[in-house]
Amino acid sequence: MSKPTFRVGEAGSKGLGLFAARALGQGELIIDERPLLISVRGVPVAVPIWYSQEQTTKYQLKEFEKYLEVVLKEMRPADRDAFICCPNTSTNFHDASISYTIYAARDIAEGEELTLTYSDVWDTAANRQQTFKPYGFVCACDACLDPVNSDARRAKIRSFVPTVQLWAVNRSLPDDWLINKCLEQIALLEQEKLEGEAQYHAAINAIMEAYICLGNSPKVHHWAARARKCPWAASIETLDVLIALKSHGRHPLWRMRQAKGRNGVAAQAERKI
Ligand SMILES: [Zn+2]
Repeated sequence: MSKPTFRVGEAGSKGLGLFAARALGQGELIIDERPLLISVRGVPVAVPIWYSQEQTTKYQLKEFEKYLEVVLKEMRPADRDAFICCPNTSTNFHDASISYTIYAARDIAEGEELTLTYSDVWDTAANRQQTFKPYGFVCACDACLDPVNSDARRAKIRSFVPTVQLWAVNRSLPDDWLINKCLEQIALLEQEKLEGEAQYHAAINAIMEAYICLGNSPKVHHWAARARKCPWAASIETLDVLIALKSHGRHPLWRMRQAKGRNGVAAQAERKI
């Protein structure tokens, strides 16, 4: 059996926390547990029967917030500084297996505290602080301490969606256009420590597909292995197939960018003309 991934320890004024018991690689499974108890989200409250679905949800959330506020007010002031917006783990609840998984979103050093996200990481720093305000939290993560640059980087990340198919047939764009855009996207996400977000895996996956379009199998292997490090977002089985194949000639995107490629769409288009 492999060594335990985490230990429970003192997290200073925050009370108990989870810590990496050893160095963890990006994508490593930290916890995979079935819950001891499944309960409804929030607290049971009586809602007026004439309320619409939307009004009911709002009302329930408000009541739940009131309940949380009481709990949070009981915490010592230093505890309330503990909120963070750059989690180093990615968590998922799997309906099919009724299990809860926690993965390392990036490489984690031995002894580092394991953290989860408590806010919408795509909100501006000001809005995130606003969200925490009723609870008396002040987030002191790197992103919140440098809001102007961080907000600009996060907005830039959100403004780009890699679309492989469009680039593949757009001859006015250079062959390396999509790859360079995605590398820039990955660098921004790593700078913001948001590797657990869907955009990170999407950029890696797009580079992998771009190399399929360019007919470069060694690079496909390299990027498939990187996509495999985001198991919370990726289909591991599909990636394993791509890694096992020596050549990807039967993939529908294979050599889509090569005008003279035998299987390429461009070549087919040329023949039609
Ligand atoms: Zn923060």
